[in-house]
Amino acid sequence: MDLLNTLVEKGLRRELPTREEALAVLATSDDELLEVVAAAGKVRRQWFGRRVKLNYLVNLKSGLCPEDCSYCSQRLGSKAEILKYTWLKPDEASQAAAAGVAGGAKRVCLVASGRGPTDRDVERVGKTIEAIKEQNEGVEVCACLGLLSDGQAERLREAGADAYNHNLNTSEATYGDITKTHTYADRVDTVQKAHAAGLSACSGLIAGMGESDEDLVDVVYALRELDSDSVPVNFLIPFEGTPLAKEWNLTPQRCLRILAMVRFVCPDVEVRIAGGREVHLRSMQPLALHIANSIFLGDYLTSEGQAGQADLDMIADAGFEVEGAGTTTLPKHRADALAAAGAAGGCGSEASAGCGSEASAGCGSPTEEAGGCGPCGGHAAPSAAPARTSDEARTDLVAVRRRGAGTDLAPNA
Ligand code: SF4
Repeated sequence: MDLLNTLVEKGLRRELPTREEALAVLATSDDELLEVVAAAGKVRRQWFGRRVKLNYLVNLKSGLCPEDCSYCSQRLGSKAEILKYTWLKPDEASQAAAAGVAGGAKRVCLVASGRGPTDRDVERVGKTIEAIKEQNEGVEVCACLGLLSDGQAERLREAGADAYNHNLNTSEATYGDITKTHTYADRVDTVQKAHAAGLSACSGLIAGMGESDEDLVDVVYALRELDSDSVPVNFLIPFEGTPLAKEWNLTPQRCLRILAMVRFVCPDVEVRIAGGREVHLRSMQPLALHIANSIFLGDYLTSEGQAGQADLDMIADAGFEVEGAGTTTLPKHRADALAAAGAAGGCGSEASAGCGSEASAGCGSPTEEAGGCGPCGGHAAPSAAPARTSDEARTDLVAVRRRGAGTDLAPNA
């Protein structure tokens, strides 16, 4: 396909595709899907080889948020029966983080629900970062605490944070339909603050909220413009008890096309498959590793992911390798730019940052979704099940998190 050859050439040169080319990726047919994945795979391998970076979420403070993000199980008025608790103590957070690091995670993502942190919260998170870094040599820490006020990004950086996550989530045009209590511009501002403070910016999106292809392309171009180093791609987990509970819009094929479009528009950034991976990609997850170079290990903020060992097995079986602590994730030009300062940049090639979520969720932050099943950490028991269609709502794959942080049970890692 001429389209795919063009996109590969541009991706290898870090050149921005046209909007029409990005839209055309989303419009490809199922018959063309493997070619799309193979083309995106060439770009992925150029910048990230066959490495998969593992990230581990620690939900520092769960639920009870005054904001109204429609996709979020922690939102104001949410009827979702999630775990609710206030700030974990530094040693509790550090213990949870250690489980993820032992499972192979290179980055720990500290997330708290809420509009944004107070200065006291920033101080508290600073102590938590210190505890985690003391006990886990070489681990990267990303904070995801919502909207930042002046000076807070700098204080987090001084406390040892490596990155800050705040997702744009969706296009500017549709942002007001998703959230009323803050604006798209607020989110952009926080990503810029993080970037300016020299933190590696992590900012991504949530697909499956009823947006158009144009909206998806808009938000991904905006992320490139902001120059995030990592772009989490969440697939909405329509949580019962939230306004988007009926939005089952995604198929595994659609998820793969979205990931490929993100890879072509942001070729040299960490593209992370975030919340909703197990629920929407399902048995196609290994194929997605040919496009994305990063995933979350274990559970999400308020929902359960597949067993950590299943993630590790999937990576090995698909012929990829877990990225070690001694390896730099980003390509040299991006790593150098980050080291050089709090310069500017974007998900694309030239440089910059973000927060939000990783999975449809929380404080603008990562992941609130992701499903899973109970004790085995897996999801849904496979039995002699009837044939399914790829666009069937899989509510059976959504499990509220009942283990790990905020409980007495061991975390999934
Ligand atoms: S996404 Fe964050 S800010 Fe929005 S409701 Fe959820 S926890 Fe609150």
